[in-house]
Amino acid sequence: MLLYGLRAAKTGHQNLYGVKCTNCEAQGAMEMHSYSKYLHILRIPFLPVKKVVVTQCNRCRQVLSKKKFSPDLLNRLNEMKKPLIGIPVWQFTGILLVSIIIALGVYKTMKRNNGSTVIVLIQQQKNKT
Ligand SMILES: [Zn+2]
Repeated sequence: MLLYGLRAAKTGHQNLYGVKCTNCEAQGAMEMHSYSKYLHILRIPFLPVKKVVVTQCNRCRQVLSKKKFSPDLLNRLNEMKKPLIGIPVWQFTGILLVSIIIALGVYKTMKRNNGSTVIVLIQQQKNKT
């Protein structure tokens, strides 16, 4: 079992009607898929790292990465940007847990030291006078 690493989660897909495949020239057989890669620690999603968008032709199975998108595909990607490529909130679970633990630690430390800090301040003022 890996303690940490990168994993990918599918965040969306959409049929690309009206787009012609550059390989087999089939009309309407293209789909766009988006993935979000995230860092995990003990399989707990910690932090999203990278978004990946690819197209796949359902007829010839050619997969294109974003670097090889035609201007038409890039326009389609920009039109559907938010719902397709948004980062899922659950990928911030690890950061949220660590933040809560740190906040609780700071709160408990402040609560524990609060009384003794006041006593030290009073003693310092008495020593000055
Ligand atoms: Zn094709």
